[in-house]
Amino acid sequence: MRVVIVGGSFAGIHTAMALRKHCPDSEIILIEKQAKIGFIPSGINLLLKKEITEEKQLYWMTKEKMEAFYNVDVRINTEVASLGTTTNTLILQNGGQLTFDHLVIATGSNQQFKTISTESELIRSVRDAHLKEPLEEKIAQAQKVAIVGAGQVGIELAEGLVGQNKQIHLYESRKNLLFRYFDPEMVAPLREELEKRKIPVFLNEQVQSLVESESVTVTTDQRKERYDLVLLANHTRPDNRLWQEKLKLNDDGTIWVDDYLQTSAKNIYAIGDTIQVNFRPTEEKMYVSLVNNAIRTAHVVSRTISGKPTKDPGTYRPVGNHWFGYFLGSVGITEEESIFYPQQITKEYLTTQVSATDHQPVKIKIIQNEQQQLVGAQLQSKGNIFHLLDQFTLAIEESWTLEQLEEHELFFQPEYRMPIPFTKVVEDTHED
Ligand SMILES: Cc1cc2nc3c(=O)[nH]c(=O)nc-3n(C[C@H](O)[C@H](O)[C@H](O)COP(=O)(O)OP(=O)(O)OC[C@H]3O[C@@H](n4cnc5c(N)ncnc54)[C@H](O)[C@@H]3O)c2cc1C
Repeated sequence: MRVVIVGGSFAGIHTAMALRKHCPDSEIILIEKQAKIGFIPSGINLLLKKEITEEKQLYWMTKEKMEAFYNVDVRINTEVASLGTTTNTLILQNGGQLTFDHLVIATGSNQQFKTISTESELIRSVRDAHLKEPLEEKIAQAQKVAIVGAGQVGIELAEGLVGQNKQIHLYESRKNLLFRYFDPEMVAPLREELEKRKIPVFLNEQVQSLVESESVTVTTDQRKERYDLVLLANHTRPDNRLWQEKLKLNDDGTIWVDDYLQTSAKNIYAIGDTIQVNFRPTEEKMYVSLVNNAIRTAHVVSRTISGKPTKDPGTYRPVGNHWFGYFLGSVGITEEESIFYPQQITKEYLTTQVSATDHQPVKIKIIQNEQQQLVGAQLQSKGNIFHLLDQFTLAIEESWTLEQLEEHELFFQPEYRMPIPFTKVVEDTHED
């Protein structure tokens, strides 16, 4: 059996690895249009913050390792140009053809802006950091920088740039920073940190046009400003035009898939950032651009191809990060999106401290359903909360109540755990 996977990033690479385990005798071909596989999209921030120093650290996997350890035929600098569904054939840009028994589409997503050409020099997406003239050089030359999008990527970029003494402006079309994952009061300290560093955040401002000449003019419904450089950190979207003639797409341009992640064509699957997935708390189909989502869908598809048809359960959307001195984490629904939840929800605020020895307070907002089961949690602290985020993710996945979570047995070490339960807080003091 020959399985061809298109896209050498999180979803594609994980599919190849899992398939080697599930179908040891299959021929696995991984196609990537770039010269390297395994690019880390947040790599540019890590470079800016000097957390990595070498170009090779921008990649978490290599062609050589995939070939040596997983016996996968990796074809780099190879771009798919079109698909023949009746003949099970891929036509490549270099004129070649490749037939398959099963095809996995893992071509991911990009930051896009309506009228921007790929040749643009002063309007850049962090995703292309490794493709053109290194973005670090453009950043070094720029004094005034606009970041379009105040989600995970935009805030991360602002943090990377602030250490470089730039004038930074953040544009966000929604009324809240990180609106997808957090209610406003949970990110209020982050807004204060941005204000302290004199980074204006233009909330509720949709960027309408970006015009490049010597500089870039950013126009919104409320202002017009010129910048030396514009960094696109708006929500990513897949560009599925390549597949649209042969495969059914959803209205938002994602590839339509069934519960098994099979597309409208037999034996052709789509995963990762190319599709919508089930958001488990609300059973709503949504676009979730996260690495955990890419990895989960890769495993689902590998099992199905190996002859064990497996439905994709969907995601609880856990995310976590560390920005401007704050650790933030979120999983499940927020209060703002609870209108889509079929039951009445209640919210509660809890506190704890990071561990028995680290007294940094942790603020937690939980969302519970009518059976008191946890359906959402948001965490915020100056100390590391990622172990707690993992616990809440498990609790939500298992439909536990807060009491069940507190009674769950975990190892104890004073540097890593707080031995007493969470304390309920009567009223939130940071309401926006
Ligand atoms: C700056 C940034 C930071 C992020 N940080 C995080 C984070 O901390 N945590 C997290 O969970 N998520 C993060 N994300 C989201 C995460 O990167 C994506 O969800 C994830 O990369 C999706 O993986 P994927 O394999 O589906 O697609 P992609 O990573 O988009 O990869 C698709 C691959 O397919 C290749 N390809 C495309 N078309 C073709 C073709 N025609 N022929 C051959 N090859 C092709 C591309 O070159 C690419 O290598 C971040 C995103 C960005 C932009």
